[in-house]
Amino acid sequence: MLPVDAFIALGSNLGDPLSQIAAAIEALSHLPHTQLMRASKRYVNPPMGPQDQPDYVNAVVLLSTHLAPLELLDALQALEHAAGRFATRHWGERVLDLDILTYGSQIIQTERLTIPHVGVAERRFVLAPWAEIAAQAQLPDGRRIADLLAAAPNHPLHVLPAVGRDDLASNLPDSMAMNHPET
Ligand code: ADP
Ligand code: MG
Repeated sequence: MLPVDAFIALGSNLGDPLSQIAAAIEALSHLPHTQLMRASKRYVNPPMGPQDQPDYVNAVVLLSTHLAPLELLDALQALEHAAGRFATRHWGERVLDLDILTYGSQIIQTERLTIPHVGVAERRFVLAPWAEIAAQAQLPDGRRIADLLAAAPNHPLHVLPAVGRDDLASNLPDSMAMNHPET
């Protein structure tokens, strides 16, 4: 069976979000039956929803995976829990949030999974890192990520360099296209 391209959104605004995101990308590179293909820069931005919480750090990665959608969700939730995620208010603060944005071109609507992930078409902090690593990416309905980004509501984003190879202790394959053009 061929692997499937899955885009994953990462978000954190508690603890040390920059390190949380770096550690999560490192952990994603070790998922079974999965290769980390690309990782975006990290985008710092003010919270949606309650404003009395720290800024978020967001990023998007591309995985090439043999895991089925629910296996991937289980793996991501295990990483969230390992990072110390606990239940908080809606759109509230979190140590680590890992969402499956798209899984190939599949549309999934079950109790545990909604793919494409809700709200992706409007959220600049998802669309900007996504377009950065995959300019040609599309939603299953054919809408291009780059076009959605161009049309997305304004939201301040401060871009930090990608997690470099130095931050990733693992031996990532040379074929892995980490996206850090200026380094
Ligand atoms: P959000 O990410 O929307 O802020 P949560 O991370 O708290 O909210 O949502 C957790 C629930 O969302 C999980 O129990 C999971 O089953 C469900 N879920 C539905 N679709 C997805 C998806 N595409 N990726 C990740 N979780 C999803
Ligand atoms: Mg989530």
